[in-house]
Amino acid sequence: MLDGFGREIDYLRVSVTDRCDLRCVYCMPERGVPSVSHEAILRCEELLRLVRVMARLGVRHVRVTGGEPMLRRDCLSFVRALGQVAGVESVSMTSNGLLLSDRLDALRELGLSSLNLSLDTLDPAAYARITRGGDVRRVLRTLDGALDLGIPVKLNAVPVRGFNEDAVVPLAELARERPLRVRFIELMPIGAAKALRSVPQAELTAALEAAFGPMIPDPVQYGHGPARYWKPEGFTGSIGLIGAVSREFCESCNRVRLTADGRLKLCLNHSSGPDLRARLRGGADDAALEAAIRAAVAEKPERHCFSGGAADPEGRSMNEIGG
Ligand code: SAM
Ligand code: SF4
Repeated sequence: MLDGFGREIDYLRVSVTDRCDLRCVYCMPERGVPSVSHEAILRCEELLRLVRVMARLGVRHVRVTGGEPMLRRDCLSFVRALGQVAGVESVSMTSNGLLLSDRLDALRELGLSSLNLSLDTLDPAAYARITRGGDVRRVLRTLDGALDLGIPVKLNAVPVRGFNEDAVVPLAELARERPLRVRFIELMPIGAAKALRSVPQAELTAALEAAFGPMIPDPVQYGHGPARYWKPEGFTGSIGLIGAVSREFCESCNRVRLTADGRLKLCLNHSSGPDLRARLRGGADDAALEAAIRAAVAEKPERHCFSGGAADPEGRSMNEIGG
């Protein structure tokens, strides 16, 4: 499916819940987080119906995200069902990893094309501070277990000034001897993150080069996203940088998002998008859903406008959007 700027949209991020068992400083406020009501959240069959319609329109890659997707009891069965949708070629998941360490065998059966684990530091105290209470040992158990089982893993870290800038080199070091992609994602000024400061990507590159030598570009493109990868000398895995703000890649954007309450989100930093739940529950047939999705995608904004100028700037926080 092409948008109004001729971009091929073949990637869908599905947020299955807005709830989370952590409160990362750049994602959610500490307290007073309003949750979407249970009835407002799309049921598994409703999500699948929308994915089937979108797959008919050309979506080939689906990522399950949240909030924390594993807080939904039907998360893994949903992931399994996604893999059976005609036209869907790859299914992946983004998780904080806390609830996965004892579900790894089930996860392996799913044949995920990638498990993305969010891990901002290896230091237990710093992890507890940035996540407001998380236990890093549980994430590390998931990481080790997933790699042992041969599940393809990417680690996502968001460097935040004053919280984890010293974690960059130790995190990257994890890729030296393992087939792991360690990616540093630039802080995006959405929700709680507006009050925080990002760490410039040039600073990250300088720290990584000082530790590992020249950052030799890795010619392999892992996945369907905007990361640029490097493979320092002697590394099995690689290091990725995703600079959504400073290195805008809107021109090659390939994605839309579905929120847990059924909004189709056309751009990370624009709030507009049709309410597909209302159409679904109002009795729309597949043809009507298809028409609504096509019409919305045709209006996908050209750019995210993080530096201002969006007519409909996003007011929701990342846990509602799905990252
Ligand atoms: N709870 C899961 C997790 O943390 O992996 C999935 C949802 S989370 C919203 C998805 C991704 O968004 C995570 O990798 C997280 O680090 C990232 N994220 C959240 N807020 C962000 C922000 N303000 N800027 C950049 N990335 C952000
Ligand atoms: Fe939860 Fe993920 Fe947001 Fe952290 S980044 S608060 S784990 S949704």
